[in-house]
Amino acid sequence: MNYRITFFLFLFSTGLMAQTSPGYWQQRVEYQLDVRLDDQTNAVQGREKLKYYNHSQDTLRRVFFHLYWNAFQPNSAYARWAEHTKDFATNKKLFDLKPEEIGKQEIFSVQQNGNAVSYRVNETIMEVELSRPLKPGDYDVFDIAWQGQVPVAIKRCGRDNSEGVAYSFTQWYPKICAYDRFGWHADPYIGREFYGEFGSFKVNITLPKKYVVAATGILQNGNAIGYGYEDEGVKPPPNYGFVNVWKFEADNVHDFAWSADAEYTHEKVKAREGLTLHFFYQPSPDVTPEFAQLKDFAVRNLPFIESEFGRYLYPQFSFVQGGEWAMEYPMMTLMENTKRGSGLTATAVHEWMHNWFYGMIGNNENDFPWLDEGFASYAASDILAHETPDSANALRRVATDVVVQYSARVPEPLSTPANLFKNSEDYFFCSYSKAETFLWQLRYIVGDDAFKNGMLRYYTDWHYKHPTGLDFLREMERASGMELDWYYASWIKTLKSIDYGVEKVAADGASATIVTLKNYGDLPMPAEVRVEFRDGSSEWHYIPLDLQYGTKRFPAEKRIITHDPWSFAVDTYELRLDKSVDGIKSVTIDPERWTADMKRENNGK
Ligand SMILES: [Zn+2]
Repeated sequence: MNYRITFFLFLFSTGLMAQTSPGYWQQRVEYQLDVRLDDQTNAVQGREKLKYYNHSQDTLRRVFFHLYWNAFQPNSAYARWAEHTKDFATNKKLFDLKPEEIGKQEIFSVQQNGNAVSYRVNETIMEVELSRPLKPGDYDVFDIAWQGQVPVAIKRCGRDNSEGVAYSFTQWYPKICAYDRFGWHADPYIGREFYGEFGSFKVNITLPKKYVVAATGILQNGNAIGYGYEDEGVKPPPNYGFVNVWKFEADNVHDFAWSADAEYTHEKVKAREGLTLHFFYQPSPDVTPEFAQLKDFAVRNLPFIESEFGRYLYPQFSFVQGGEWAMEYPMMTLMENTKRGSGLTATAVHEWMHNWFYGMIGNNENDFPWLDEGFASYAASDILAHETPDSANALRRVATDVVVQYSARVPEPLSTPANLFKNSEDYFFCSYSKAETFLWQLRYIVGDDAFKNGMLRYYTDWHYKHPTGLDFLREMERASGMELDWYYASWIKTLKSIDYGVEKVAADGASATIVTLKNYGDLPMPAEVRVEFRDGSSEWHYIPLDLQYGTKRFPAEKRIITHDPWSFAVDTYELRLDKSVDGIKSVTIDPERWTADMKRENNGK
């Protein structure tokens, strides 16, 4: 059976038992965005028509919009926050911005179903009072007229980034804040994360004709515009005007980004039936080979990616040079290239995987930053490990080693919302390394097959939706047949850490041995113990944790001796071996080093 057929069967079989919470709902948006850019003044004029469906059971009397570009001003909340946290991730002092360098989004008018309504702008958030309450099951059409100024590139969006890419239009239009099971998410922008409603976007971009545009969505008039978007054999007609009007459409996305540069090379490759990958970069002796390598890597690894994490459901994805550092958007990523040297592929894979964890599975990136950053980091490590099996174990341990090394310095738990971390160091540690480690350890707890099935169930049930961390956990519980709340509670919500060890190996008569294992830490885990004998043989022992109410399934070739569960309330466990102590060479707990064990030196005797 070929891959596509097995995938279809998979969707069909699991689709029958979709496990989204009963009563789950989410809002829907349909955006029509018209934007015109003057590249002499960096002024932007915009019109927005937004059809907004209220699928909640609440009557809405006001709605909120993000105006992200207003953050890029001296004295903004973002500026003050970056100053007092000494934020290393903000690469230019916002206080020093000159008037022509700041970002601005000014609202001329807001209409609800054709009637002007009042609104209040508090920097990056606009609150709109509805003249007619929006009832459950009903929709409103909002018309917004706005103008703005593209900020110099500071964080993610802006003009003239560090590598000379002209325009990175991200978080660029008045975007309605998400309203979900937990209410409004009118989070001010301080350079961190995003969240949005799923729906459709029709976007017309008017700008001088010298620019090549990369964007979320499918270009509708590629044969007229050209620049590599035209169908094979088509010769676009000459454009005698000054501008091009680029018409993009995207469905089932929760944001729309684009970038423009006159120097872009645009290449595309068909990765499989129904999926074209696009690459936009300024060609140079440094950059061109990096993108060539990325192109091969992406096509080669797509089958593995889709088998592990689910099918990529959009018809295109674009890897684009631009923005600041690297950031994910639906159907595209913007990345600076030269800063990472030969690391472009690793970064690009992380950002691409965000189209699963953020893009298709649209978690709230502020409340659950780990649910996309940790997952994209895990996926990238898993894919790179698949690509280079010789370094697979080392790749698996990178994040775990960071956790061991830096845990003591980070006083905030993983569950901290992105905007509330005290500084960027804590945010990166928790949302990336500690969250990636959460998944490697979870895979160790439930086993490879259950882990993979849980990931695929999560994808099947939650794509195009807004899951929380607990929704993911339930999928893993169903896939593994284990209770996992103890692990989630400890690793995500507290600062507890893991430290298991072998306390004592002692003779129990002439022909038996008692191994005393000890939980020196405060986070209980199941234990895997390898015993090596002097005759060269070895045994693998497995002690489940009582709280997990289930047993890991090991691969058949790994012969396992399973013991009675270890109680979470007891810090020692006596493992009895029917072998003389003289014949034992070594006893090691977690010998493959899957856990972030804080004191590896006590793990063996
Ligand atoms: Zn990321």
